Amino acid sequence: MSLVTLTGVAKRFSNGTQALSDLSFAIAPGEFVSLLGPSGCGKSTALRLIAGLIAPDSGDIHWNGARPETGFVFQEPTLMPWADALTNARLALDLKKVPRAQGNAIAAAALTRLGLKGFESAMPRELSGGMKMRVSIARALAAKPRLLLMDEPFAALDEITRAALNDDLLALAREDAITVIFVTHSVVESAYLSDRVLVMSPRPGRVREEIRLPSGKRDRMSPAFGEIQARVARALMVPA
Ligand code: ADP
Repeated sequence: MSLVTLTGVAKRFSNGTQALSDLSFAIAPGEFVSLLGPSGCGKSTALRLIAGLIAPDSGDIHWNGARPETGFVFQEPTLMPWADALTNARLALDLKKVPRAQGNAIAAAALTRLGLKGFESAMPRELSGGMKMRVSIARALAAKPRLLLMDEPFAALDEITRAALNDDLLALAREDAITVIFVTHSVVESAYLSDRVLVMSPRPGRVREEIRLPSGKRDRMSPAFGEIQARVARALMVPA
């Protein structure tokens, strides 16, 4: 049974750009699915449609039951610069009017899960890019989402930081059984993280190929992972 199903979704912006045409896929609960495609193919638009921030022109987005509690993580950590890490991580809880002491406890626990124990009162300017992204993920997880929508969250980070965050994200998503829809244009990242990769065509975007990957933890150095990457790369690189 799917969590959400998109059927024949199309989106054209008011300036005439046809971002998506006939986008169809289903996401099962607990899956980690990457939307992989070239820049401008409509990946962010698909995520915003799923988030309900914009509406499709045609086609259908069907939730099996109520829309789940949803967290967002964007490429920019979008932290409030005047607020410390704890206050930033507490944002969704403040918006939900969770009592302050309870919010602080939940946000502190989320920061600890992201490896930021001891940095609760650090200001964003005192944190590295990777640490800011960790606060951003802690903020999303503090709200106990069932679905996490991530839009190129690690694209601006160096490779070592990115690899560490990939591992931590996978562990946290599995631990909480969160469904993740992850937008990326990185073959390596999608191959490393995903249960399934939806390879999108250039704009107007639609799913060109669906690749189900072997379950279990990947070894970045192994020939088997090299083969997985090659499978994904072949699907992405075929001429349109
Ligand atoms: P991706 O995430 O794959 O890079 P986007 O979904 O951001 O692609 O954009 C898809 C296309 O739609 C691009 O050509 C982009 O310029 C255009 N686009 C995105 N948002 C808007 C908007 N609000 N108004 C007009 N065009 C937009």
